[in-house]
Amino acid sequence: MQLGHFTIETISGGTFKTDGGTMFGVVPRALWEGVYPPDENHLIAQATNCLLVRSEEELILVDTGYGSRLDEKHRRRLQAESGDPLLRSLAAAGVAAEDIGTVILTHLHFDHVGGVLSEDEQGQVVTTFPNAAHVVQAGEFQRATSGRDELRAAYSAEWVTPLADAGQLELVEGDVELRPGIHAIVTGGHTRFQQALVLDSDGQQAFYAADMCPTTRHLHSLWCLAYDEEVLETRRRKPELLGRAVDEDWWVLFDHDPDTAAARLVREPRREFTVAEALASL
Ligand SMILES: [Zn+2]
Repeated sequence: MQLGHFTIETISGGTFKTDGGTMFGVVPRALWEGVYPPDENHLIAQATNCLLVRSEEELILVDTGYGSRLDEKHRRRLQAESGDPLLRSLAAAGVAAEDIGTVILTHLHFDHVGGVLSEDEQGQVVTTFPNAAHVVQAGEFQRATSGRDELRAAYSAEWVTPLADAGQLELVEGDVELRPGIHAIVTGGHTRFQQALVLDSDGQQAFYAADMCPTTRHLHSLWCLAYDEEVLETRRRKPELLGRAVDEDWWVLFDHDPDTAAARLVREPRREFTVAEALASL
């Protein structure tokens, strides 16, 4: 997709499956299974639609999928891809890890941050993108490394502290311009400091909603993830920000949708928003 001066491509950080209930929280299965049919093991297929943004200054990667370091038990349970799906996808776009100047992380769950670390031939953990600054909300980093028991299932400090040790971490606070034309919006909800992004160039905008609205099946404000820390905050911010996307004619980009990477939305009285125009990939 060409968006003003930005060229934006979908980069897969790997496909995986989880129990459908994880993606719909308290929504009864009888409602969600009609729009997101599970397989015989109750699993639904998900993408990790990372973004490669070519700006006038540099190459920027937004989110990194689950990476190459899942242990075998988790890989099997998630039916995750082996090897390094992120680097494979970047290579197919003609990009090497060394070429990336900035990595922006929406939040620090495993399926977004996993690709930032790799293992070298000796099995040592190294940063995957040696020349990149990794832009993270300070509050998100603080919570991910806090060791708080109630966040144990959501985060591991080991996924991110090597970035800090390598001097490759750039902490930001609040709704700031992260790079020219790329603006953070702290959504809260899914994680308290999750940041969505508005890419803005030459009067055109695209909104990377992160896990506030991971697929087109989550446009309804009540259809939240079981993983959301603050469900009511998601229900408050989602219609607000999707409404802005409609009113200001933004593309909306979906991070886990296996079929739709981007859509333009319109308002629809019963379901709040619906897809007017969709792109399978960018
Ligand atoms: Zn996610």
